[in-house]
Amino acid sequence: MAKTQAEITSWDVYPSYTDYVSMMYKFDSLYPNLCTTIVAGYSELGREILFVKISDNVHSQEAEPEVMFSSSMHGNELCGYVLMLRMIDSILTTYGTDPEITAMVDNMEIWINPLANPDGAYRISDSTVAGAIRGNSNFVDLNRNFPDPDEGDHPDGKSWQAETVAMMNIAEKQNWVISGNFHGGAEVINYPWDTWFTRHPDDLWYISVSRQYADSAQAYSPFGYMTLLNNGITNGWDWYPIFGGRQDYMNYFHGSREITIEISNTKLLNPALLPAHWEYNRVSLFDWLRQANYGISGIVTDSATGNPLAATVTVIGRDAASSRVFSDPDIGDYYRMLRPGTYSLQFYAEGYDTLLITAVSVSADSATVVNAELIPTFWLCGDIDNNGQFQGILELTFLVDFIFRGGPPPANELAADVDGSGGIANLLDLTYIVDYVFRGGPGPTCL
Ligand SMILES: [Zn+2]
Repeated sequence: MAKTQAEITSWDVYPSYTDYVSMMYKFDSLYPNLCTTIVAGYSELGREILFVKISDNVHSQEAEPEVMFSSSMHGNELCGYVLMLRMIDSILTTYGTDPEITAMVDNMEIWINPLANPDGAYRISDSTVAGAIRGNSNFVDLNRNFPDPDEGDHPDGKSWQAETVAMMNIAEKQNWVISGNFHGGAEVINYPWDTWFTRHPDDLWYISVSRQYADSAQAYSPFGYMTLLNNGITNGWDWYPIFGGRQDYMNYFHGSREITIEISNTKLLNPALLPAHWEYNRVSLFDWLRQANYGISGIVTDSATGNPLAATVTVIGRDAASSRVFSDPDIGDYYRMLRPGTYSLQFYAEGYDTLLITAVSVSADSATVVNAELIPTFWLCGDIDNNGQFQGILELTFLVDFIFRGGPPPANELAADVDGSGGIANLLDLTYIVDYVFRGGPGPTCL
């Protein structure tokens, strides 16, 4: 254990809980323009669950991907804890001199939570991690305590723990594009899903980026590091199924791309080995977050006002419900990491005509920008066949946009009824645009 705060920055000791907390706030006070410290919530025993957010213009929202690392939800798996503190320090101290780090800080919002389970880590006292346990103070395994895509809420039969609630609340507010969760007890990258055998629609992408992580870690370490299972990577279910894990929760419910990084065979690693583990993983850590800059990205706005929209972005013919991504309602920016290829995107926002953009090509390690302006959909209430409801309407015309599931469209535009009662069986989505002219007086209020 470190005896002083200064000792921590040799990165070969575990900090006390109080030194950890002061360090997290010190990042904020030393680098106020780059870094801010955020309390996501409190543990069962009232300890702070802390994140730092790092970005240029850290206090304003920009069109930048939000990326996230979190460690040690199992309180006795602590290698990632110190590595995350070191990563924060490394980013802040080299910003402006290291061009790659500077570009990352300028182009993304980096969120880091070094310690997701402080009560488990400091089980005996705030001053030592000796005696750290896997669970929280209630001995609940937090990596079984999240809502599960297959099993639903409370798959472990336990109430949501304070630490779980803190993470769920902040995940709901943020729009994390890519994330990683550090554990120990093995040396392997675990990618989704954990809860079922079915492969994620982005399975090949996960395999390729997980491979890249493990390959770099192997290149910077002695022979044998990060080689478990398929030479350092595995599908979660193939290794062993878990229910209520955080990885599936982030990916399924929040559209992130989260992997579980098992970073050291020994859970409570001899602290003298922490600097070596930093060197093994340093390149992989930064490369993982940088993935957020690749693939397709852009901004979704209202075509009339230019305001940002909360939209769902789906890759046609590829996405299942679990793999679509969401634009950030604050800015309208979205990010969809994809392997090289040609894709069609569908942009959906409630109250807007669905927009389809085809033939978008993606090349390796580069970004294709696709902005989307969605046209507001006007909804007409009451009957629209001029039999009395809207006396004020002089003229009424309909434009119909439709997207087909496949097969040829109807021979002529409105060959059958368009009210969904069966006329056009292939309709996937149907929106009406109505132009109207009034004789005078106020228009219908429900347009
Ligand atoms: Zn673990």
